[in-house]
Amino acid sequence: YNITMKEMEVLEVLGSGQYGTVRRVYHRPTCVPMALKEIRLELNNQALRQIIMELDVLHKARSPYIVDFYGAFFIESCVYYCMEFMDYGSLDRLYPAGIPEDILGKITLSTVRGLMFLKDELNVIHRDVKPTNILVNKKGEVKLCDFGVSGQLNQSLAKTHVGCQSYMAPERIFDVENSAVGYTIQSDVWSLGLTIIEVATGRYPYDISTNMFEQLNAIVHGDPPKLPESRYSPLACDFVARCLTKLSTVRPAYPELLQHPWLVEVDAKDVDMEDWAARSYGLYLARGGNRQVAPLIK
Ligand code: ATP
Ligand code: MG
Repeated sequence: YNITMKEMEVLEVLGSGQYGTVRRVYHRPTCVPMALKEIRLELNNQALRQIIMELDVLHKARSPYIVDFYGAFFIESCVYYCMEFMDYGSLDRLYPAGIPEDILGKITLSTVRGLMFLKDELNVIHRDVKPTNILVNKKGEVKLCDFGVSGQLNQSLAKTHVGCQSYMAPERIFDVENSAVGYTIQSDVWSLGLTIIEVATGRYPYDISTNMFEQLNAIVHGDPPKLPESRYSPLACDFVARCLTKLSTVRPAYPELLQHPWLVEVDAKDVDMEDWAARSYGLYLARGGNRQVAPLIK
């Protein structure tokens, strides 16, 4: 069964990124609300067809930590990707006031489980771990989206890679030319570490007032950022410090992260994620919601 554009009732824009726009849609035949991502690409039909084919493995990928995939198609030079609609959107909208440790722990646990699922079940490296790619729904569930399943799509997007905040691991930075070969699971673990700090503190941890070269230089040559020791437990700080190990070969892998005492402790706790999500989304709406282009802090 192939999903098509004709079956969609197109509703409001949920957000836009570097490569396109995500809209809320209603899939009439199944009565399922979905998020439809439009990715504009300068590619020929054969390359576009290959992307759709490569995305097909996602039909077999079901995990509570991964946004469901419903299908993809292309029209002219745009790829359309249909996925589970996540009511409260991405973490960058929910964090401006900072996030308490127990909530941060649950978010981290879901993210690590999602990343491990991608690796173990699909043999996929995410490549774009950051707050805008971690989504939250009304049940307070936390799920990953925008992972690099399609080699053809990864390649096409990498060519145009820009952006003013880098979540790239130090070993990747001066190796961008080789990005297709050089990407490893360890690079995602670094991005996870930066993401945790950003979500915890409400801001991207490197100085974004300097130019891009200075920023990349700080990532490669400076000390890695830390979780504020005044507000987070030694275990949480240690977990993040391990993710941000500069030498990629000694950075921990997912099984090791899941066995870290912080996540073991987090797993045993009962945390009301539904309540946190509803309150944070309420604050987001009160700030002006979707109309706001960038998060308040930046
Ligand atoms: P970048 O282009 O740098 O990757 P981005 O991740 O914000 O940034 P998009 O992936 O195009 O760009 O997503 C735009 C916004 O749409 C996201 O920030 C997120 O808030 C929202 N969004 C994406 N997918 C969904 C979804 N499945 N459900 C609800 N909202 C979504
Ligand atoms: Mg995204």
